Amino acid sequence: MAHIPEEPKRFVCENCQIIHAGTPVHASGGDHSFETPTTCGGCGESTFVEFTDWVHHHA
Ligand SMILES: [Zn+2]
Repeated sequence: MAHIPEEPKRFVCENCQIIHAGTPVHASGGDHSFETPTTCGGCGESTFVEFTDWVHHHA
């Protein structure tokens, strides 16, 4: 079985809609997850919507 690299989670700033890549966090057991950025580099806000939810967010 080929290992499929996990795509980083992306988060959209609700304020200015800049897309940020999540910060990879290594968990125990070789697993990892992605953390929401603390603040937006564009506007300084801290309200993020997961990229996959963004579509529904604005549907
Ligand atoms: Zn922003």
